[in-house]
Parts: sequence; C-alpha cells; structure tokens
Amino acid sequence: MSAAVIDGRAAAAEVRAKVATAAAAFQTKTGRQPGLATVLVGEDPASAVYVRSKGKATGEAGMASFSHTLPASTAEGELLDLVAALNPDDAVDGILVQLPLPPQIDAARVIAAIDPAKDVDGFHALNAGRLATGLDALVPCTPLGCLHLLKAQLGDLAGLEAVVVGRSNIVGKPMALLLIGASATVTIAHSRTRDLPEVVRRADIVVAAVGRAEMIKGDWIKPGATVIDVGINRVPGDGGKGRLVGDVEFASVSEVAGAITPVPGGVGPMTIAMLLRNTIVAAHRRAGLTDPEGL
Ligand code: NDP
Repeated sequence: MSAAVIDGRAAAAEVRAKVATAAAAFQTKTGRQPGLATVLVGEDPASAVYVRSKGKATGEAGMASFSHTLPASTAEGELLDLVAALNPDDAVDGILVQLPLPPQIDAARVIAAIDPAKDVDGFHALNAGRLATGLDALVPCTPLGCLHLLKAQLGDLAGLEAVVVGRSNIVGKPMALLLIGASATVTIAHSRTRDLPEVVRRADIVVAAVGRAEMIKGDWIKPGATVIDVGINRVPGDGGKGRLVGDVEFASVSEVAGAITPVPGGVGPMTIAMLLRNTIVAAHRRAGLTDPEGL
C-alpha cells in the first residue's frame, strides 16, 4: 500500500478539544453553556445511535445537551410545535432534527421551520443560499469535515482538480461549493454521468458520496490523488453482524492514491466534530461575539 491513511479520529479529537476550550470561554463570558437540542422521531436504530453519540460528544465538549425523543407516530404539527418552542429558547444555540423522519412528516417543512441561526446541520435554504453566494453560513457538517481533512492534508487547494461523486443537498452539493470556495476546479458527478471512471481519473481530489459499497476502484484513480470516502455501507461479514465499508474500494485505491480516508475512522468522526463546531459558532454569533479562533 502506498497511500497515507488520513486519521479522521485524530483530526476530530483536535477539533473537539478546540470546541471545548471555546465552550469554556463562552461560559465565562456569557454565564451559560452553549446548548444543542437534538430531536429524534421514532426508533430507527442507526438514528438512535447517531443521536446518542452526538449528545455524548456535546457533553464532553462542555456544552449543554437537550435531547427530545418522540414516538414514530408523531404528527408533523407536533414536531413543528417542538421546533417552534426551541427556536426562541435562549439556552438552545443549535437545533438538530435527526433525519430520516417518518413518512407522515415532510422533512423539508421541518427544516424550513428551524431558525436559520440555530440550523447547525446547515440544511435550511437560507444557509444553503448563503453558502452558494459566498456569505458566512452554517455549513453541513459532513462536507465541512471533508474540507477540513483536505486542507490539513494538502494545504492550499487552489487550482486542484476536484471530482465530487454525488449531488445530494447534504453532502455532494455543499462539498462542491466548499471546494469552489477554496478555488479548486470542481466537477460534480452523479448517476447520469457518462464514463464515470474517466471523469474520476482527472481528479487530484476525489470525494465519494454515493452510498454504493466499494464502487470506486483503484484503476479510476490518478496516481497520488487524495481520496475522501464519505460512504457508509454495511455489507455481509464479521460473523453476521456485517462490516462497514465506504464507497471506495480501499484495497485497490490505496495502492494508487497519495492519501485516503478509511471507513470507519475517516469522515465519520469529523461529522460529529463539525456539529460541535457549528454549535459553538452559532452560540457566538447569537451572543454577538466574534467567531472562536481556529474553528
Ligand atoms: P444520496 O443517496 O442522497 O445521494 C447519493 C448520490 O450518489 C446521488 O447524487 C446519486 O446520483 C449518486 N449516485 C448514485 N449511484 C451512482 C452511480 N452508480 N454513479 C454515480 N453516482 C451515483 O446520499 P448522501 O449524499 O446522503 O450520502 C452518500 C453516502 O454518504 C451514503 O453512503 C451515506 O451513508 C454516507 N454519509 C456519510 C456521512 C458521514 O458522516 N460519514 C454523513 C452523510 C452521508 P443521482 O442524484 O443522479 O441520483
């Protein structure tokens, strides 16, 4: 194997330590802890695990965590009422409604109801628009984490060819916008892209956010490229429990790439670190303070 393996856990620990320092300073200045409210609707086991780990990480960073769990049968109006109660609550700096939501609830309507200043997932149209127009925004956590890893690995991204595979609102599109903001030359590929391997072969930076296990192969990769694997796919193995793999075939790609994120231990830990980062930034902006340094 030739590629350097990018340690997302170590990078995330650094961000979390900076958030903890900023949270303590915020408390000294304002007399209160920054706070994150999480809302889980239903019993999807993966969502429950995500929300629990977000709550735990919030506490570890010295921030208050307010956890709301609603039954799967919750009507859209009840969830909107909860959001309407959290919006003006001064102890709450960030509101995270865990997706997916049950079918009777329109996720777009719920996202639109969240105060954009507390939208720590960065999914509100106002924050998406601010990102697209180059204004300060709360940016979706996963692509923000990917950008952090890329800058730590490569330094200046200006002029590099970047190919983002996937065009979702939560990963692909904001990732492409962040890379444009960093002056990379960006291509967004998706399920209708012609000759995807050839497109990916151009890239100095590949970000894979597809949701297809090990789709991107070693012979698609330009030698020395930096590969960020966002995918989380459970495949059979590991004594029936299943094993997690990314959208990139790690064994073959790591023979060719210059650097690569593993799954697990790459992008995943950065997502939670960036959620904490967005919460402390939201807290500062709401309190009229300048953004914490280095975050
Ligand atoms: P979506 O399903 O919303 O989007 C997937 C994208 O991949 C779509 O744009 C789709 O194209 C494209 N795509 C699908 N099949 C192909 C193909 N054969 N060739 C090229 N493009 C294809 O997924 P998300 O963006 O939400 O998530 C992507 C992956 O990242 C998933 O594995 C998810 O679990 C993971 N994830 C990981 C996170 C983390 O913290 N590490 C956080 C969020 C997501 P089209 O638009 O044309 O349909």
